[in-house]
Amino acid sequence: HIVSDEYKLVSKKWKAKPTSIDLGDGVFIKDGDMAIMAGPCSIESEEQIRKVIQHLKENNIKMMRGGVFKPRSSPYAFRGLGLDGLKLWYELAQEAGIKIVTEVMQVSQIEEMYPYVDIYQVGARNTQNFNLLDELGKVDKAVMIKRGISGTIEELLQSAEYVFSGGNEKLILCERGIRTYEKASRNTLDLNAVPILKAKSHLPVVVDPSHGIGIRAYVPQMALSGVMSGADGIIYETHEIPEKAYSDGQQTLDFAQSALLADQIRKTFAMR
Ligand code: PEP
Ligand code: MN
Repeated sequence: HIVSDEYKLVSKKWKAKPTSIDLGDGVFIKDGDMAIMAGPCSIESEEQIRKVIQHLKENNIKMMRGGVFKPRSSPYAFRGLGLDGLKLWYELAQEAGIKIVTEVMQVSQIEEMYPYVDIYQVGARNTQNFNLLDELGKVDKAVMIKRGISGTIEELLQSAEYVFSGGNEKLILCERGIRTYEKASRNTLDLNAVPILKAKSHLPVVVDPSHGIGIRAYVPQMALSGVMSGADGIIYETHEIPEKAYSDGQQTLDFAQSALLADQIRKTFAMR
């Protein structure tokens, strides 16, 4: 019985029980919990990875985000350390008991990345890369799909349906802001999407305030608004010296700001 011709398996009508993503070692992304994923926009060097990991450990953050394959608007911008960077990161993260969230940009990367990844991130520029989604449907590892740059909520759910219907049910949805006519912020973080996605789907929903607003000073308040909107997790960018970050420094928190935010996220969630 088809509940909706647009999407079915990811809908709450199909499965009422919320989907819980278990990354092992007691790390979950699930309804009724608050996942924190933090890290630099780009993985840059061994020293940078070590510093971020130390910061995450000091703040009991179990998931580290970071790009090794970077989708950049300009081909001349830093495009990431690639698979070698991922391998290095994996070794250090493994030692520290930290899980890895990183973007996969194309089908050929899925297999080579597989041993080193805990969550494959599908970036906003690839939300409707249906070949990529089909292939991620065959993988036995969690996938986080970001909302498309100009994507509707319905389209995000349809993209999730591609992966889910391929057999991979370890899926997370991410609201990261959409392109609107507004130019005062990088994107328009659509927090409306959170309660709507939570009502329509059994999948966990994560909010990315960093890309959502794109302005460092306002990231914390949008993160906390994301918590109050009902998100199951927050993903944000942090770097020891944001001004020196290879990408997205303008929206990246320093470690002091990140430590404060992680604490505020937990306190806000506890009040929710
Ligand atoms: C990122 O997470 O650094 C990123 C490129 O995100 P998005 O795909 O949402 O732009
Ligand atoms: Mn970024």
